[in-house]
Amino acid sequence: MSPLGPEASSRTGLVAALREIVGPERCLARPEELIAWECDGLTLHGATPSAVVLPRDKHEVARIVRACRRHATPFVARGAGTGLSGGAIALDGGVVIECAKLDRILAVDVENRLAVVEPGVVNATLSAAVRPHGLFYAPDPSSQLACTIGGNVAESSGGPHTLKYGTTANHVLALELVLPDGELVRVGSPTGFAPGVDLVAALVGSEGTLGVVVEATVRLTPIPEATETLLAIFPDVVAACRAVGAIITSGLVPAALEIVDRRTIAAVEASVYAAGLPRDAGAVLLVELDGAAAALPGQVERIRALCGAEGARVERARDEAERERFWRARKGAFGAMGRVAPDLYVHDAVVPRAKLPAVLERIGAICDRRGLRLANVFHAGDGNLHPNISFDRRDPDELARVLDAGREILETCVAAGGTISGEHGIGTEKRDFMCLVFDEDDLEAQRRLRAAFDPDRACNPGKHLPTPRCCVEANPKARGYDRVPL
Ligand SMILES: Cc1cc2nc3c(=O)[nH]c(=O)nc-3n(C[C@H](O)[C@H](O)[C@H](O)COP(=O)(O)OP(=O)(O)OC[C@H]3O[C@@H](n4cnc5c(N)ncnc54)[C@H](O)[C@@H]3O)c2cc1C
Repeated sequence: MSPLGPEASSRTGLVAALREIVGPERCLARPEELIAWECDGLTLHGATPSAVVLPRDKHEVARIVRACRRHATPFVARGAGTGLSGGAIALDGGVVIECAKLDRILAVDVENRLAVVEPGVVNATLSAAVRPHGLFYAPDPSSQLACTIGGNVAESSGGPHTLKYGTTANHVLALELVLPDGELVRVGSPTGFAPGVDLVAALVGSEGTLGVVVEATVRLTPIPEATETLLAIFPDVVAACRAVGAIITSGLVPAALEIVDRRTIAAVEASVYAAGLPRDAGAVLLVELDGAAAALPGQVERIRALCGAEGARVERARDEAERERFWRARKGAFGAMGRVAPDLYVHDAVVPRAKLPAVLERIGAICDRRGLRLANVFHAGDGNLHPNISFDRRDPDELARVLDAGREILETCVAAGGTISGEHGIGTEKRDFMCLVFDEDDLEAQRRLRAAFDPDRACNPGKHLPTPRCCVEANPKARGYDRVPL
C-alpha cells in the first residue's frame, strides 16, 4: 500500500496536472513509453511508474513535486538509470522525475576551483568541459560516460580514483534541492565552510530520499603534472591482493589500485574493450601514480619491486593512448561481462584491505559450492569488492543460487569487519540487509532524520531503510527479493 494512504487520487488527474507543467511531450504515461524506466542497472528489481516527467528547470521540478503531493502520489528523481541497487525505480505507483534535461553547467569558477551544475550533467562531460582550465572533476565511476552528477550525489559514488581523491562526498560544497513539500532550499556554501549542522553531508549518499537535487556546487581538482600507469601481471588474484597491501603499507599513495581477475580478462579481451591484457594471467593490477613529474620515476621503481616480490611482471603504459587502452578495459569490464551470460549480478561490498586475500578465497568457495560463474573486478586499494556473478534469470534454480550466494557474500564481508556497500548504495537491493550492520536504534535514528525532511514518505519510498519487520534479523525470510517484483 502507498505510504500516502489508500485514497491516492486518480492517475488521469495526476497526468493531466503534470502535462500542464511540462507539456504532453515531456510527460510520458503510455505503458510502452514507461518500459525504459521500469528498472535501473539492477535489472532484477522492477516497478512501473505512473508517469515519467522530464523537467527542464528547477521551478518545473518544484511544481511537479507539489502536483504529486496534491495527488497523493510518491515520486523519485532519476539521472541516467545506471544505478545498481534499484534506487531509481518508482515503487508504489510513483512518478519518475527524470533529470536528464537539467544538463547545464551553470558556472565554472577557475580561481575558486569549483563548478555549479544542474543534476543531469554527465560526469565525464563536466571533466571534459573544465579540462581547458587544467582542472577535472575527480570522482570517476566506471559509468562516467553516462551517469549524472545528481545520481553521483545521491549515491556518493566512488570510482577507481577514490583511493587518492575520495568519493563524491569529498567534492560537494553546496546543493540546492526541492524538498518533499515542493520548497526550494540551498544547503552548504561554495566556500566549503557552512556553520551549523552539515546538511550537505546528510544529503550526499541519501539515495534521493530527502528531496530532488536541482543544483550542485562541486569542487574541481587540478590535473596532476604527470601520471604513470602500470599493469602488474600476477599468477593469481590472491598474490595481487597481497601486493596491494604491501604498496599501501610502504606509504605510497597511488591514485588508483584496481584488480581485474582472469575470468574478467577473458571477457574483456573478447569484447570491444580488448586492450591486449594477458589472457593467461591469474589477475592484473592496474596501478596509477600521479603528482609532481620528478617524484614519479622513484615511485614506479618501488611499485615494480613490491609487485615483483609477489611474483608479478610489471609493464608501464608507454604513452597516453596505451594508458587509455588499459583504462578502457577496466571501465568496460562490466559491459564486457554481458558476453558471458544474459544477466550479471554486480555485487558491492567492502572489507578491510588486509582481509582481501582471505575474503576473496571465501567468495570463490561460496560461488563454487553453488556452481556459479564468478568474476572479480574491483577497487582493491579501497577494499571495495565487486564479485560479479553471471547467470540467466530465466533459470529459477540458478537465480535462487545467485541470491543465496549474494546473502552469504554480504555476511562474509560483514563478519570480516567490512560493510554491505562501498558505492552502489542500498536502494531496494540491500534494504533488508541493513540489519547486518545497524541495530534497531541506529536504524531508528536514520528514520527520524528522513522523517525530518519527508514525514509522509513521499520521496523515493521503499528504499534504503527497512521497516522493522523487514529486517533480516527480525525475519530471516525477509531477504528483500521476495517482495520486489522481478
Ligand atoms: C557499468 C557500470 C559501472 C559502474 N561503476 C561505478 C563505479 O565505479 N562507482 C560507483 O560508485 N558506481 C558505479 N556504478 C553505479 C552507478 O553508475 C552510480 O551509482 C551512479 O552514480 C548513478 O548515477 P545515475 O545518474 O545513473 O543515477 P540513477 O541510477 O538514475 O539514480 C541513482 C540514485 O540517485 C537518485 N537520484 C538521481 N538523480 C537525483 C537527483 N537529481 N536528486 C536526488 N536524487 C537523485 C535516484 O533516485 C537513485 O536513488 C556503475 C554502474 C554501471 C552500470
